[in-house]
Amino acid sequence: MVKAIALFSGGLDSCLAVRLVQEQGVKTEGLHFVSVFCRAAPSSTSCNEAEKGAKLLGLPLTIYDSSQDLLEMVRNPKHGYGKNLNPCIDCRINMLRRAAEHMREADAGFIVTGEVPGQRPMSQRRDAMALIDRKAGVEGLVLRPLSARALEPTVPEREGWVDREKLLAISGRGRTEQMELARRFNIREYPTPAGGCLLTYETFSNKMRDLMNHGRFDLNNVELLKFGRYYRANAGTRIIIGRDQRENDILAGLAREGDWLVQTMDFKGPLTLVRGEGREDAFRMAAELTARYSQGREAEVLRVSVRKAGKDEEKIVEVAPADLDNYKQQLIT
Ligand code: SF4
Repeated sequence: MVKAIALFSGGLDSCLAVRLVQEQGVKTEGLHFVSVFCRAAPSSTSCNEAEKGAKLLGLPLTIYDSSQDLLEMVRNPKHGYGKNLNPCIDCRINMLRRAAEHMREADAGFIVTGEVPGQRPMSQRRDAMALIDRKAGVEGLVLRPLSARALEPTVPEREGWVDREKLLAISGRGRTEQMELARRFNIREYPTPAGGCLLTYETFSNKMRDLMNHGRFDLNNVELLKFGRYYRANAGTRIIIGRDQRENDILAGLAREGDWLVQTMDFKGPLTLVRGEGREDAFRMAAELTARYSQGREAEVLRVSVRKAGKDEEKIVEVAPADLDNYKQQLIT
């Protein structure tokens, strides 16, 4: 029996693509990509959603963490960025390369995706899809069941492993045909993939750019960009201020040796993480901002604790809550 590897996000299109080939007797396995840039964090909701979708379809699923691959692509995108810092063409090439490795290991004959030409501006244009297949070394081996009849026949169609006539010819951004197909397959509940890729968001991309221009570019630093208000204190130092208890807890968990944690002593308020050179000007700025975002923001002077993460070293400073206008140039949004 012929076997296929499906790129599986857990969303409706990938569920339908899988069902269309399963219906033709193709044994299919799923490959789900997660990364530090997934909106869900720190534990990946996206995995849970994909796992639920895979279970509904009886699809064995492999999870692949592409964080390191993506970090490198964001730093050096061979095919450029999309609207923000999303290197979608490189990213799709990488996904198909990984899927091809998986295909060879699993002795499968082709790859399945839920793509539809014209649905996304960058990576799902017809010319981009052809380029991606070529660069990934899988030309002719990627079957897109939702749109196959609108595209050139692929190897599995030419070889008769699947019947092209039973595939669809969807293109564009409309969803009517997908919804109809979902009804036909009795797929009533399908998971919504968790929020998508942060690289497509302007604010996240601005923070990412700041990190690339100044900071150490590693997974912990990227994870930190997802939470809190983000200030650039000086070339070597960032200040991240939790916006609620959940973010405070996350920041505490992400703190590492060399970081400083700042909190008001007599009022409830945020946890602020200072990462970088630890200069006095940065500590003062962090203390004033922490005071401003605390419940003591109306007080004239507040006591603020500045302590080294994981150490006993602590100093207490007295500051007036910041005038936010004084720091608006340093706020990255
Ligand atoms: S949106 Fe993000 S995950 Fe999706 S292809 Fe683009 S860079 Fe990759």
